[in-house]
Amino acid sequence: SRQFTRPLNDLANQYNMILSAVAGAERVFQIIDESEEKKDEEKASAIQSIHGDIEFRSVYFSYDEDEDTLSNISFRASRGQTVALVGPTGAGKTTIISLLSRFYETDGGAILVDGKDIKTITRDSLRSQMGVVLQDSTMFHTTIRENIRYGRLEASDEEVEKAAREAHAHDFISQLRDGYDTVLDSDGKGVSHGQRQLLSIARAMLADPALLILDEATSSIDTVTEMKINDALGKLMKNRTSFVIAHRLNTIRAADQILVLEHGEIIEKGSHCELVDQDGFYANMVAAQQAESQASV
Ligand code: ADP
Repeated sequence: SRQFTRPLNDLANQYNMILSAVAGAERVFQIIDESEEKKDEEKASAIQSIHGDIEFRSVYFSYDEDEDTLSNISFRASRGQTVALVGPTGAGKTTIISLLSRFYETDGGAILVDGKDIKTITRDSLRSQMGVVLQDSTMFHTTIRENIRYGRLEASDEEVEKAAREAHAHDFISQLRDGYDTVLDSDGKGVSHGQRQLLSIARAMLADPALLILDEATSSIDTVTEMKINDALGKLMKNRTSFVIAHRLNTIRAADQILVLEHGEIIEKGSHCELVDQDGFYANMVAAQQAESQASV
């Protein structure tokens, strides 16, 4: 079970670094759009807003020609639902998110947003509908106010503060000598790991996206901050379709749908209760985690 609680090491790769910086700010995406990515298809059009229904329809993908990284991935998520992606490191969880964000194109099958093939949607407009909260969300070398505003560049100071309050970040910000004008290091020094997560949640609240991508923290965070994070995430996820790369049983258990991945395939799919009843891979994982947590008490 150790594998399930280990951080996603490869989230440090450049795509995810950029992903983590965004939370709705297309500006950053444009930089890689121009340098690394294929142009949008001629027929692609911008979407103004989305409802949030997602479907993967028999998706295949490989980074190289030799072997499939993802095979026959199919699932549906309706607006507001939470999908937990579970499985060992290298199983393909991050790749699913990368395809949904159109960092890569599928080799087979289709990904649909509100019934529309994402190939027919411009990357910028798709990504402007997506918010991202990673365990190591990037902070920029600027004030806390501007770091939160990165979620929506045209937001007013009042809107920034409202988002910070909702995300339970306002209290700690107010206690800093320079408050919202506190300048952060680009590596986030000056605020704790947990506080940085509250800031990235505030940023995502400001962005107000229909789709959310969460990479759950595995690092230890004090209990009070963790409760704040959980509560803020609960508010953030409400009415948004969320994809969680989940490490903690509590989060996974609460998901509407759990996709258990191994070697690029969905080996089990269902709710917590359904999967426990199946008595397979997931049930074993839960049993192992429970044994581990009992042993550590
Ligand atoms: P997970 O998120 O479940 O840990 P990933 O989706 O990151 O899994 O990786 C799935 C597989 O694809 C792994 O074998 C990994 O080594 C490989 N992979 C991931 N990113 C790349 C990449 N940019 N180039 C080539 N192979 C990659």
